[in-house]
Amino acid sequence: MAQFGALTSGGVKRLTLAPEDKAARDLFRQWMEELGLEIAIDEIGNMFGILKGKNEDQCIGIGSHLDSVPTGGRYDGPVGVLGALEVTQTLIENNIKLNSTLVVANYTNEEGVRFFPDMMGSLAHANPNEVSNYLKTEDKNGITVDNALKEIGYKGKMKCGTINYNHFIEIHIEQGPILEEKKIDIGIVQGVQAIHWLKLTLLGKSAHAGTTPLSARKDTFYALSKLSCFARELCNEIDNQLITIGSIDVKPNAINVVPEEVVATLDMRNLSDANLQQAKNQLEKFMATDDSFSHITVQKEILVNVPAVTFNKEVVDAIDKSCKQLDYSSYKMHSGAGHDAQILATRYPAAMIFIPSKNGVSHAVDEYSSPEQIEKGANVLLHTVLHLDQ
Ligand SMILES: [Zn+2]
Repeated sequence: MAQFGALTSGGVKRLTLAPEDKAARDLFRQWMEELGLEIAIDEIGNMFGILKGKNEDQCIGIGSHLDSVPTGGRYDGPVGVLGALEVTQTLIENNIKLNSTLVVANYTNEEGVRFFPDMMGSLAHANPNEVSNYLKTEDKNGITVDNALKEIGYKGKMKCGTINYNHFIEIHIEQGPILEEKKIDIGIVQGVQAIHWLKLTLLGKSAHAGTTPLSARKDTFYALSKLSCFARELCNEIDNQLITIGSIDVKPNAINVVPEEVVATLDMRNLSDANLQQAKNQLEKFMATDDSFSHITVQKEILVNVPAVTFNKEVVDAIDKSCKQLDYSSYKMHSGAGHDAQILATRYPAAMIFIPSKNGVSHAVDEYSSPEQIEKGANVLLHTVLHLDQ
């Protein structure tokens, strides 16, 4: 799969619905057809390979995404799609007929680089009412999702949300260092942390650095720097709280001028929505009461607000049981990144299986998980499907 959009540095550039994505989709489709799966494509280009079970009312979904970021690795996404295909092939080759219908899925635009929002395909699956809005979304060249889908021949006829999963499971690389550091085979993902992105604009007044007394200054950078220190204190006080001020723009950005404007972004994350709310409240209170903000006007814009997701206990327990059965070491953890399974979990019982990422690297060309690590992930997926099918 990594030949499509291959970079000389070893990674891939396979932006959603680009020619490289079409080529990857075509091969995935061919592999599914060779296995005898029934192919279905929905309005937003999500691809499904269907293996009918004995009971038409039950359905287990497995899969992930084939698109990548511009300088992406080979493993973020494809491990979940091709792992799902491998599980399906193993069942067929061993003449194991499931009670449930098994659906292998490739979700459109997980990465969100070409079109916003990310996880668009799974969002459309879980919220079919939003599909028409997503189809109108344009890339930076003014091409809509709808036209991009038609261009590559992946505008399907099936309505989004037609496939109703009783369970959904996604294998994914961890994209962090924890499993490798702890020498653990499998991460059993309990949920995904809440994310809140805020853009703050602080407005004060430019003034001469030599002649303006401290008491007369409206210094926006001083206010932001105090807020930054307070944010770190909050992270120490509130369980599992992370706050990152990752981007700032200071005006006029001159050595001898008190800065009149600062635009800063805050990335706030927590496993608990309640804890995150507490952090947001405390920051508000700080800006309303601290001296440094007394002559500063604050404008706020919420860029992203995604609540925490707790994965389904039945699916998590089935993954746990599979690890024990296979004698693989496992570790219960949360995901710091967003995934299709997190979106699907808002409508269907879902959970995730993580495998180690070398040096915790992801969204980079040197992303790596070994064949042995991937095989273990796929084995856990296979056994999880078998447990849930019972
Ligand atoms: Zn991914």
